[in-house]
Formats: sequence, C-alpha cells, structure tokens
Amino acid sequence: MKEFPIEVLRNNMLKYVQTYLISLNEQLNENIKYHGLDSKIAYRHTNSAIDDIADIRIVDGKSRITFYDNFLQFLWCLSYSFLVFYDQNHQRKHKDMFNEDEFAKGLSVFEAGMSLLREHNIEQFYSLPNPTEIFTNDKFNYISKGTSIFLNAFSFILCHEFGHHYFGHVDINYNPDSIEQIKNDEFNADEFAFSILTDTTDFRANWNIRYGIITALSSLIFVDSTLKGGTTHPDPDDRLKSMLENMKLEETDTLWGWASLMFLFWSRYYLEPIVLNQKFPNDYVIFLHIYETCQKRKYK
Ligand SMILES: [Zn+2]
Repeated sequence: MKEFPIEVLRNNMLKYVQTYLISLNEQLNENIKYHGLDSKIAYRHTNSAIDDIADIRIVDGKSRITFYDNFLQFLWCLSYSFLVFYDQNHQRKHKDMFNEDEFAKGLSVFEAGMSLLREHNIEQFYSLPNPTEIFTNDKFNYISKGTSIFLNAFSFILCHEFGHHYFGHVDINYNPDSIEQIKNDEFNADEFAFSILTDTTDFRANWNIRYGIITALSSLIFVDSTLKGGTTHPDPDDRLKSMLENMKLEETDTLWGWASLMFLFWSRYYLEPIVLNQKFPNDYVIFLHIYETCQKRKYK
C-alpha cells in the first residue's frame, strides 16, 4: 500500500530530537532508563480519517507514545501552507510582490490536509508540494522551511505526551478528582513541552521552534468548528492563547501574525471570513481583534 509522503520524514523526526534537542534527548533517555518510559515511539499507519492526534498509554508495563501517520501528514500540511500564507502576505504588504501560483499551492495543500479530518486519501498529496520533493521546484524553499516548522511542531507534541508521563498522569494509580484537574494536566503538559523545547535555546531567536509550537497548538483548533475541548481537554483556543502569554512576546512580535492567520483561516474554513477593514497599530492588536471575534462566534 502506498504511504503518506510524511513517511519519508519518519527517521528525521527522531534524528531531529536526538541532534538538535539535546536536553529533550537526555530527559527521554533518563526516563527510559529509570522511569518506565518505553524506548520505542510507535508510528501507526492508519486507514481512516483522523481520529487521534497522539497519545501515551501503558503498554506491557511501560508508557508508550504513539503517533498516527494521518495526523502527521495533516500537521505537515498546516506547517507548509501557513508558511506560504504568511510569507506571501508579507511579500504583498511590504514588497508589493505576490506569487499567485505559490499561494494557490498553499491553499491546495491546506485543503488536502483538512480533508484528512473526513477521509483517508493518500494519492492527492503526491500531486501537491510534499516533503518527498525538497529539491525540486521550490524556489521559496517553502518545503524545507515548512518541514522545519513541522519537525518542531512534532517535537512539541512529543514533549507534551512525555510531560504526561513525567507528571505521572498515565500511572495506573493516578486518579484525577475532577474535570478541572484533567484539563489542568493538559496545560501543565503544554508548559512542560514549552520549557523543554526552549530551555537550551533562545526561542525568541529560533523562528522554527516558535512557529512549530504555535502550529502544533493551532492544529487542535482546526480539528473542528467548535473550539471546544470537551470533557477531557481544555478548549484549544485557550491553550493557544495561554501559550502565547507564556512566551511574553513583544507586541510587534511576528508570532502574533502567525497565530492570527490560524484563527483567520479557521473562521474562513468553518464559519465565515473575518474582514479586517480598520487600521491596527501592531500585530498584537490585530491578534486580539481576531481572537475576540472568534470567541464571539464560538459562544454564539
Ligand atoms: Zn495531553
């Protein structure tokens, strides 16, 4: 059977963690040696629409982290397409240059990624930009840069799952006493992941880590039209906002623009476009405006 193009990154994903995220690698090794973390990370081939992002559970007495190929393909599509949207938007605004073809390719990759939430269709990805063709026909380097964002988004999710192990959330004896507690565990796992990814590097200077973290959390808002986390997870927009607050960004930080695009596209895809017809002093104020608009639509 043919696999998703993301298959070619399967080895790179762990190599990336081992090579660039030294402290994560050390922590994983220590937990594998002494604290019951499984040395294998499972990579599942799926044959249906996305129904899981990643998880950690006890298998043969050890905590095993599992990833699913359809979700990883989806995550790559978001990493690539938002890079295209962001960069082309920037080119249009600041350089008066806009490449319609590239933007259209970004949109197609976005739509293909979103289709994985409804169906399992592998073939379409091979006629679109994908990680198997890094050196061909990619004059803006969107494929390799998008892959770099993807690898960091993957690392963030890996660290998040690892955080559940670290805090004992997967222990057989762990018994959270309320839904509040279960939701709090998610915020704690997010903060844990953030601190591991950023403790040895200046994350403000490292664009792919910053964009990767926000892309990983944004992937959760795209899962459906509700912005609701249900009984086991906090609302995904709250997780995203809380992470942005954690980062203590300047109001002019470009990451506000990146997060704004996520909400703009979420609203455009599921509800209706948000029209920005006023002047804003900076990216942070634009973000707040878009975020609050989505909040109103969410609680309608
Ligand atoms: Zn979690």
